[in-house]
Amino acid sequence: MIAKVEPLTTARALRGPFDYLRPDGVAKGSLLIVPFGHRDVTGVVVDVASSSEVPAEKLVAPRRVLEERVPPELVDLAAWMAEEYCSTFARSLQLVLPPTGARAKTALWAELTDDGTAVLAAGEGARLNARQRELLASLPRFCGGDTAALRRLEGRGLVAMGPRSQRRFLTHDAVGAVGERPALTDAQASALREISKAPRGEKLLLHGVTGSGKTEVYLGAVEEVLGRGGGAIVLVPEIALTPQIVSRFVRRFGDTVAVLHSKLSKGERYDEWRRLRRGEARVCVGPRSAVFAPIADLELIVIDEEHDPSYKHEGDPRYDARHVAERRGATLVCGSATPRPESAYALRRIRLPERVDGRGMPPVGVLDMRGHSMAMHPETVEGLHTAGKAIVMLNRRGWSNFLTCRSCGHVWMCPHCDVSLVLHRAQGLLACHHCGHRARVPHECTECRSVSVARHGAGTERLEHELSEAGLPVWRLDADVKRPGDVLRAFEAAPTGVPVGTQMVAKGHDFPDVTLAVVLDADATLRFPDFRAEERTFALVAQLAGRSGRGEKGGRVLVQTLAPDAPSIVAAAQHDADGFLGGELERRRLLRYPPFSSLVKVVTSSHEPGAAHTAAMAVREELALPPSAVLGPAPLFRLRDRERSQLIVKAKPENRATAIEEVGGAVERVAASREHKAASLSVDVDPQ
Ligand SMILES: [Zn+2]
Ligand SMILES: [Zn+2]
Repeated sequence: MIAKVEPLTTARALRGPFDYLRPDGVAKGSLLIVPFGHRDVTGVVVDVASSSEVPAEKLVAPRRVLEERVPPELVDLAAWMAEEYCSTFARSLQLVLPPTGARAKTALWAELTDDGTAVLAAGEGARLNARQRELLASLPRFCGGDTAALRRLEGRGLVAMGPRSQRRFLTHDAVGAVGERPALTDAQASALREISKAPRGEKLLLHGVTGSGKTEVYLGAVEEVLGRGGGAIVLVPEIALTPQIVSRFVRRFGDTVAVLHSKLSKGERYDEWRRLRRGEARVCVGPRSAVFAPIADLELIVIDEEHDPSYKHEGDPRYDARHVAERRGATLVCGSATPRPESAYALRRIRLPERVDGRGMPPVGVLDMRGHSMAMHPETVEGLHTAGKAIVMLNRRGWSNFLTCRSCGHVWMCPHCDVSLVLHRAQGLLACHHCGHRARVPHECTECRSVSVARHGAGTERLEHELSEAGLPVWRLDADVKRPGDVLRAFEAAPTGVPVGTQMVAKGHDFPDVTLAVVLDADATLRFPDFRAEERTFALVAQLAGRSGRGEKGGRVLVQTLAPDAPSIVAAAQHDADGFLGGELERRRLLRYPPFSSLVKVVTSSHEPGAAHTAAMAVREELALPPSAVLGPAPLFRLRDRERSQLIVKAKPENRATAIEEVGGAVERVAASREHKAASLSVDVDPQ
C-alpha cells in the first residue's frame, strides 16, 4: 500500500505528492517524518493508493509516524485553498496542522488499585490513618504536592501512579459588562429561530445595530448546536481587543470552549488544538486562523464583525477566513452593524433593528473642519469637558504625520520607502510606519541647516498630550500601546476619562457609561485610492457612533471632517446602513467592483530599478484575458528599498475560477523565467 505524501517545504518549484510505503494505520491526514532529498522533513498524507508508478524497489518507508493527525476534510480544504489563492499545497497544509514546537505536558497521575478501592471501602478496620484515608478518597487526580505520601501508598499496592498529559490552563481577560444570561428580546428570539431552522450550509447575515445583542444570539445558536452534539467555531477580529466576547463564551460553556490565538504559548495552543481534535472541546473561539479548528460535526460558524479587515490573511496563502468558512459546510452566521456590501448582497439577512435596552441610536453632529486649523473643533473640546466618559478616535499614530523645513521645504522621508516619517515625540524619534525605520528627531534641516522645522498634522500621541493638558484623564489606545486590555480595564474602572486612539477604540467593547464618541478626521480613509474607501469610512464612523449612549445617561456623537457631504459620512451620521449599502452597491455595479466582479491583484517588487515594472508588464502579456479586464501595471510606492508595481484583474463572477488559474499560471511562468529573476511576485485573490 502507498501513502501519497506532501512534504512541507516552502519551495514553490517542488510539487508533490510523492509516494512512500504506507505503514499500518496510516491514512489521509496522518503526519509523517519522511526522508526527502538529503534530509528528513515532515509530510502530510494527502491520499492513499493501492499502487504506485514508482518501481517497488525505489519506494521508501517513512522514518516515523507522528502521534497527531489532521482531519481528512482539512486536507481537502488545504488543497482547495492552494488553488483558490494561487499558493502551494504545502503552504496551505501548514495552516491546518497542529501547532508545532510543543508537545503534551505530562504530570504524575494517581489512581486507586483494586486493593486500594477495597481498603477504602472496608472503612475503619483498614490500616489507614485519617490523612491516608483522605488521600485515597481524593483519587483519581494529579499528585501535585502529595507525591511523597502517595508513593508510600503505591508501595503498599493501594495506588497506581504514572505520567499523564496535563492540560495547560488558560486565563481570559474579563472586561466590560458581562452579566448573567438575559432574557432574549423578541427580535433576538426570532433571529435565533431563523438560525436554528436554517438548513446546514446556509449563509446568513445577522445585521444588527451596535448594542442590539448579537452576541446573545450567537450564544443561543451555539448552545443549540452543542445540545445536538455538534461543534461550532466563533471567529472574532482580534482577541486582544475583544476579550468581552471570549469571556462570555467561556462563562456560558466552560471547558467546552477552546480558545485559539497567537498570544497563547506554543504549549497552550497545542493543548487547545488537541482538546478540539479529541472532541473534549467542541466550540472554538479565535481570530481568523480558528477557521481551521479541527472540530468534528461542525454545524455552525459564527463570524462576528464580519466587515473587519483582519479576516484577510496577509501571508501566503492570502486567504480570507470569511470565504474559507463557506467551504467548511457548516451553517454560516456573519454578524455586523456595518456589513460589507458583498455580504449584504449575497447572504440572507436577519435583522436586529434596535438596541436591546430600547434606547434610540445617539444623535450625530457633523462638524465641518474646512477653514479650521486646530485638531479639535471648539464644540468637541467643550463636549469632552462635560461628557464624563468619552471616546476619541483618530486613525493616525504618533505625534505629527510629517516634518518639513520652513526654509527650503525639505520633507523628512523614509530612506527605504517613499513615505514621510512620523514623529513619535515620547520616544524621541521619527519612524516609518511601513518598514519600521527609525531616525533621531532632527534639530536642523539636513539640506539647508535651517533650524526651523515645522510639524504637520496631529496623531494620537499629540492628541493625548493636548487633552491631558486640558485637564482630562486620558489613555492612549493604539498599536504603540503594549497591553490594550489593561487600558480598557483602567477606563472601565475610572469614573471619568477619555481613551484616545486609532480604530482600536471603536472595536467590540461595551462600556455603558460613555456619553460622547468623537471621530477626528473622519474622511481620512476616503483619501486612499481604493474602491473600499467609502465602505471603510462608513464602518469606522458607524462603529464608533455605536459606542456612545449605551447607558441611562444617553449619549451623542461628533464627527469632524473635511468632507461633510461624502455619502458614507452622511449615511453614518443618520445611522442609515441600508441607504449606504444601497448606494454603494449601485456604485459598484456601475464600476464592476465586487460583488459584481472578482478581483485578483498581482504585486511585483524588486531592488533593481525598473525590474518590478517590466515583470508586471510581462505578466500582463502572458494573460490570455481581454485587455479591458486587466488594469495596470501601476506603480506602488517604494517599500523596504523595493520598487513595486501592481496589476489588477477584474473578472465576472462566473469567470472567477478561470481568471485565478490564468493569473496563477502567468505569474508562475514569469517568476520562473531567468529574465525576471530580480523580481518577486505575489498574487492576492479578493484583495482587501
Ligand atoms: Zn531646509
Ligand atoms: Zn520605510
